[in-house]
Amino acid sequence: MQKPRLMTPGPAPVPEDVLLKMAQPVIHHRSAEAKENIVKAVDGLKKVFGTSNDVMILTASGTGAMEAAAVNTVPKGGKALVLNAGWFALRWAKICQAYGIQAITLDTEWGQPVDPARVANALAENPDTVCVMGTLSETSTGTGHPVEAIGKVVAKTDAVFAVDGISGIGAMECHQDAWGIDILCVGSQKALMLPPGLAFISVSPKAWKKIDAFDAPAFYFNLKSARKKAAESDTPYTPAHTLIQGLNVALDRILAEGIENVWARHKRMSDACQAGVQALGLSLFSSRPAEGLTAFYVPDGIKDSAIRNKLQEKFGIYTVGGQDKIKGKIVRIGHMGYTDELDVISGLAALEMVLAELGMDVEPGVAVTAAQRVLMGQSQPAGV
Ligand SMILES: *Cc1c(COP(=O)(O)O)cnc(C)c1O
Repeated sequence: MQKPRLMTPGPAPVPEDVLLKMAQPVIHHRSAEAKENIVKAVDGLKKVFGTSNDVMILTASGTGAMEAAAVNTVPKGGKALVLNAGWFALRWAKICQAYGIQAITLDTEWGQPVDPARVANALAENPDTVCVMGTLSETSTGTGHPVEAIGKVVAKTDAVFAVDGISGIGAMECHQDAWGIDILCVGSQKALMLPPGLAFISVSPKAWKKIDAFDAPAFYFNLKSARKKAAESDTPYTPAHTLIQGLNVALDRILAEGIENVWARHKRMSDACQAGVQALGLSLFSSRPAEGLTAFYVPDGIKDSAIRNKLQEKFGIYTVGGQDKIKGKIVRIGHMGYTDELDVISGLAALEMVLAELGMDVEPGVAVTAAQRVLMGQSQPAGV
């Protein structure tokens, strides 16, 4: 017997009550019940995002919300500033390219946080920037970016700030309105504890002005159509409303725990996982770790695929490696959403055994002990 343990930074585990809710008979998407579900979901999402702006539900993976943000906000030939610091940030630039949006990329070394002062300089050099496109948690490098500070910079300009919060929201502290995020993009399968299939997008009045200023080359992801239907607690096309029913159960869980407590739990899991990995003599990839995952360098002489395959074969633990230019260099362990401190401890215990089997000199319990000490308040997180 082996339990499947999904320790990836999306998809992430889904609670049993959410799964059970989605096993109910399918209702009609234009029924009063379906509309009530949308009202409830939007209300809960606003609390989780920290916004009083419009929130719309799209039936897509998270990238659908990013595409909607770009194509509806920046006209063809218009300028976007992409805060490029990883594989997912690069996606913003690719979306821009697909729609003829002029993307200026502000490149930051992978694993490092974006420097808000450089964003200010780039905006001063490009005063015609329509939209700044950034990331809350860069999942490819396990880095959390200083979105609050960047938001302050962008708020002083005419540009709007679009943030990919797909793996960050529900794992890392974020206050959309207070932090000056004009467009927040979120996906269902990360810390919001759902299967893939829904995307959420929240739009500020400043962003609506840009959106209303031109006719976007968008049909399915047209935000004006979405806004019109959202005003009637509806969606333009058939939504994945079975997932919306599940979403309401997941949001009930988040709001019952309290969003601050949810963030604090993710911080504890992140601190514990970092401490465990470092106690094994491994180095973290990021200098400003995100809180929903831990990315560490593969030790010399061992292949990332060997670690990941053994974790899966022996313990049913699914993890991911590096993408693009850091393929083979790192392993990423997810600890987001329906995950607790003991999941992290057992993941570290498995990692110890797997690394020992692969020939590393490992003192059994060393990572577990370091993580326990952090969780017991006996030691400070190691820092990076
Ligand atoms: C997962 C993820 C995405 C992509 O989301 P899809 O749901 O696969 O479209 C984009 N950005 C970040 C930061 C992510 O973690």
